[in-house]
Amino acid sequence: MSNDQKKNEEYWRQRLTDEEFNICRKKGTELAFSGEYCHEKAAGTYLCRCCGEPMFHSMNKYDSGSGWASFYQPVNSGAVTEYSDASHGMDRTETTCANCGSHLGHVFKDGPKPTGLRYCTNSASLRLKKE
Ligand SMILES: [Zn+2]
Repeated sequence: MSNDQKKNEEYWRQRLTDEEFNICRKKGTELAFSGEYCHEKAAGTYLCRCCGEPMFHSMNKYDSGSGWASFYQPVNSGAVTEYSDASHGMDRTETTCANCGSHLGHVFKDGPKPTGLRYCTNSASLRLKKE
């Protein structure tokens, strides 16, 4: 690990809870139905928990039944970066905050119209700013 990466890790360890750190910086996944926004219906903008940039809007949130907060599109096309993720023997697409690189979750192609996408997102990666 480079010095820069170590510094970065210390920076986030001091600012995040253990759970947030494991999910946002170590690409962990919270347990299904455990996230605070899994069933959240309030109107507002979901911000990146690490840097505060807007990631998703409540009007694009839907109940996927998966146990994680699900959105069919990000707040804008540049907000979320997508990476191919072949870990855990699965072919998935990882989503991260385009601004700070924080892990959000994964995007799947079984979402509703109009995008057909499901941004399956850890609540620990988000902070809801209610309207
Ligand atoms: Zn961020």
